[in-house]
Amino acid sequence: MKTDTLVTTAGRDPEANFGVVNPPVYHASTILFPTLDALEASQHRREPGKVYYGRSGTPTTFALEDAVAALEGAHRALAVGSGVAAITAAIFAFVRAGDHVLMVDSVYGPTRRFCDTVLARFGVTTTYYDPTIGAGIANLIQPTTRVIFLESPGSLTFEVQDVPAITAVAKQAGVATIMDNTWATPVYFKPLAHGVDVSIQSGTKYVGGHSDLMMGLIATTEAAYARVRQSVNDLGHHAAPDDCYLALRGLRTLAVRLQRHQQTGITLAEWLQRQPEVTRVHHPALPADPGHALWRRDFSGACGLFAFQLGATSRRGLAAMLDHMKLFGMGYSWGGYESLLLPVDPRPIRTATPWHAAGPLLRVHAGLEDPADLIAELERGFERLNEAEGRGPRTKVA
Ligand SMILES: *Cc1c(COP(=O)(O)O)cnc(C)c1O
Repeated sequence: MKTDTLVTTAGRDPEANFGVVNPPVYHASTILFPTLDALEASQHRREPGKVYYGRSGTPTTFALEDAVAALEGAHRALAVGSGVAAITAAIFAFVRAGDHVLMVDSVYGPTRRFCDTVLARFGVTTTYYDPTIGAGIANLIQPTTRVIFLESPGSLTFEVQDVPAITAVAKQAGVATIMDNTWATPVYFKPLAHGVDVSIQSGTKYVGGHSDLMMGLIATTEAAYARVRQSVNDLGHHAAPDDCYLALRGLRTLAVRLQRHQQTGITLAEWLQRQPEVTRVHHPALPADPGHALWRRDFSGACGLFAFQLGATSRRGLAAMLDHMKLFGMGYSWGGYESLLLPVDPRPIRTATPWHAAGPLLRVHAGLEDPADLIAELERGFERLNEAEGRGPRTKVA
């Protein structure tokens, strides 16, 4: 089945539930077993249709996991409490003291922090690699390398990775690959089809889609599933039943919402590219973007998240621009229906590929509002910026 059909059908079985369209929410800790036989036969945690203990999931959890597995083309999926929980549990599944991890330099900040603090404390070392390294990753593999971690496009800076080139090298070397696919979601990029062993996404973002839940989703190959599930269980991860329900509800409209996020994102990116205050737009769907060719080759779409660079700007000028936005909210996370605009700084979280820029980097999340209203608001923001910088009246650029 095609992706749009899968998001509406996977993980649903109305016949098993009085014909009700959506699976019900089970709130559970204790699961009761009527007999000793039933108790002893109950050890099939996370087997569809089998429950064991609330922490290892209920039919609500399994419905979401089944839907995500189908969408990812995966053997199985696991739902946990947050994207960070998904990332850290997946990495822990493959490493022990003395091992080595290859981590993309443009990775999400908290993933980097986990490597530099928790993994380091347990004797696991990390080497950060240039996101554009491609097959050159072969030169960085050590005898103790157990994981190559990918995230494409990169957080904040949106570099596109050559995923098939990296996974081909990893397979030859017997190294597991884990990819953070939060940006594209499995609607626009399917990591396992490109050779990745474990695909994770923060379901908090587009799957939830309404800025009201925390969720981590992990989808794996058959070979990787048992150890990842064991890691999730050993670490005590669990996704709350109401959040599983909301994530599943969000999933049903994911493909149509993404189309609109994509469209508005590209409209804003193209407009921003023409503005005199903007020195660069980081959006892989723009033909001028260095990652464009790879994005076109491997991705079937873009979400609404990208960034743009301003020229030299004072803090006062930046505050004048950002403090008076009505449609663009300023806050962390993204993927909801509402637009966001956030100053971000990649400098402290890049080591393999130092980040140099004359002015601030602003991350945009294009929401579902009318793009003309969003452009009008950005235009007013630039007017306030110019005024605060004492630059005089601004010439409008369509
Ligand atoms: C937000 C985010 C995460 C973390 O997800 P949470 O659900 O907030 O824990 C991981 N990776 C990327 C790329 C993200 O944007």
